[in-house]
Amino acid sequence: MKVIDFHTHLPLKQNSAEQAFTAYRKELDRSGTEKAVLLPLVRDRIGNKSIAQACRRDPRIIAFAALDPRSSSAVGELKRAVEKYGLQGVKLHPRLENFSVLSKPVLKVVQAAGRLGVPVLVCAFPDSALLSRGNTPVSFGALAEHCPETQIVLAHAGGHYVMDVLMMIKKHKNLHMDISFSLSYYAGSSVPQDIVYAVKSLRGERVFYGSDFPERGMEEAIGLARRLFEENNVEKETQQMVFFKNASYFLSKGRRLRWMPEV
Ligand SMILES: [Zn+2]
Repeated sequence: MKVIDFHTHLPLKQNSAEQAFTAYRKELDRSGTEKAVLLPLVRDRIGNKSIAQACRRDPRIIAFAALDPRSSSAVGELKRAVEKYGLQGVKLHPRLENFSVLSKPVLKVVQAAGRLGVPVLVCAFPDSALLSRGNTPVSFGALAEHCPETQIVLAHAGGHYVMDVLMMIKKHKNLHMDISFSLSYYAGSSVPQDIVYAVKSLRGERVFYGSDFPERGMEEAIGLARRLFEENNVEKETQQMVFFKNASYFLSKGRRLRWMPEV
């Protein structure tokens, strides 16, 4: 089964940017991943221009922009990243960068992404840093409502809030989720089962597979998701949507998605 990994980062810890790209591409080879969305972080300090240049060498890598939405130049930087450098989305990190997704500068950036026709991926992993800024599934629903032209992907399925995220996805047709990291982080709890329930309930629509490499190995993450889906009798067609088809459609022409599951 073909795989597009919707949630990856560069393995920068002990590496230079160049070495990190080499290690990243080796991991793509090893895991047989067709394509992957690369999400740089502001703290990586690589810069959107350099990311775009590096990714041009490997058509498997779909790079998003990193920016601090609170900076006064954020909307301009996003426009440049998309129109000049060809980046295909933007990642926002309210958890690491400590902001509320409903604050005015953030709304401006998310609305601008919609006008530019690129999706926004928001970290929705509910640790205390995320929650203490009020970033709950209810806030993500409000974000979707304030930015109806923007396709918004909630990362990590919202962790243990996956059921609430599911309800928000059902209500707001511009909301999606990726299932990276949470399947292994919450192993042994009810969360992986809840994620399977959400995938089945949405019949595979608006859900993207992701590994969160280098937090998790790409091959290991694919194996874990596959096993979980098989053990819980997720239909082959649904699996194909989650692992590949949704992302393939979304990233090629998914700018103004109208498809809405009947749920
Ligand atoms: Zn991540």
